[in-house]
Amino acid sequence: MSTSGVRLGIGYDSHRFAPGGPLILAGIRIPFDYSLVGHSDGDAVAHALTDAVLGAAAVGDIGEMFPDDDPTNRGANSMEMLRAAVKRVHDAGWRVVNADVAVVSETPRIAPHRDAMRASLAEALGVGVNAVMVKGKRNERMGWIGRGEGLAVLAAVTLASTTER
Ligand code: MG
Repeated sequence: MSTSGVRLGIGYDSHRFAPGGPLILAGIRIPFDYSLVGHSDGDAVAHALTDAVLGAAAVGDIGEMFPDDDPTNRGANSMEMLRAAVKRVHDAGWRVVNADVAVVSETPRIAPHRDAMRASLAEALGVGVNAVMVKGKRNERMGWIGRGEGLAVLAAVTLASTTER
């Protein structure tokens, strides 16, 4: 395959914590005393990955595809948003090769939920679980993440062309 048939995308998202769990990340309900505030379910992993997928194919972004002033997106299941983005990318002639995600948060620990999150994301992306990695990073008590005000997510995705380019 020529390099014109490979694309890289990045995504970033952050959400504020509010009292009352559970925390939903990658569609997985994580027992925690806080949840993420958002117009949708606040799933920052799904949001960052949605932007990475759309960005790699240069076919839009999450804000354009799911405007937060659209009431139909209120309380939306963000994994469905990710699936819709993957479908848009498929329709544009791309398939997901792999995804890599970093969750930056002081708490909770991500490691115990890693494999469930990987499996959930792999299903939505249409790839095997071995093509998806998730890791947690603390922010060493620095700044708003360190104070536990919320969390941030970084995501990277590669796509391969399904058509001649
Ligand atoms: Mg978001």
